[in-house]
Amino acid sequence: MIKTEGYIHSYESFGAVDGPGVRFVVFFSGCPLRCLYCHNPDTWIQTDGKKVSADTVFSTICGYKNFIKNGGVTISGGEPLMQPDFCAAILTRCKQAGFHTAIDTSGAVPLTQCRHAVDAADLILLDIKDIDKQDCKTLTGQTNEQAFALLSYCEETKKSVWIRHVLLPGYTLSDEKLHKMGKALAPFSCIERVELNPFHKMGEYKWETVDRPYTLTDVASPSEQDVLHAKEVLRAYGLPL
Ligand code: SF4
Repeated sequence: MIKTEGYIHSYESFGAVDGPGVRFVVFFSGCPLRCLYCHNPDTWIQTDGKKVSADTVFSTICGYKNFIKNGGVTISGGEPLMQPDFCAAILTRCKQAGFHTAIDTSGAVPLTQCRHAVDAADLILLDIKDIDKQDCKTLTGQTNEQAFALLSYCEETKKSVWIRHVLLPGYTLSDEKLHKMGKALAPFSCIERVELNPFHKMGEYKWETVDRPYTLTDVASPSEQDVLHAKEVLRAYGLPL
């Protein structure tokens, strides 16, 4: 049975960074990953969120239709694809109403479970956590194989993708990793944009509420120079930054 109810953490009515134009962003609760730098650990447990119907979410979105007519709707999280039916139900309603639709995902959910939700989006914002499979497991609890399966599916179906990647000193920020990433992503013509986000500790205080220690207290954010260099490395592989 298709689930048209699900758990959400919160809304953001004027999102500017989660897809093209001004976005209405719905943050789902629930995430299968445990990224060391997570700034939203309060979204990890699905049932900590508020249970609502897709119709309720859609009618909330419609209240902002004049603001998002040149932007659209993004489902973020947490991990949106952990609730694929609910995600698809919201996005299908949005598409019928003419809104541009996007999913902001780590790609951590097997495609066999979430293909219909991916199909309902115009754009996938895909977070490649670490280009090395095993290092990805250390950083997030899971390898990057599902994320690359999703990227390949987007290539096959000609779905637009924006790649996101956090530059984390000591983990993802090295020339070796950046070159590996450039080589791995270069063949995908579905990638319209690559966004590099410097690691920050803005969510560190939230970790006091979860049953895990925050381990990156002593890690500094990358410098502006580091970010510029990383962009140059990836641009040399023809990636759009
Ligand atoms: S995928 Fe996002 S919400 Fe989930 S643990 Fe990682 S940073 Fe946090």
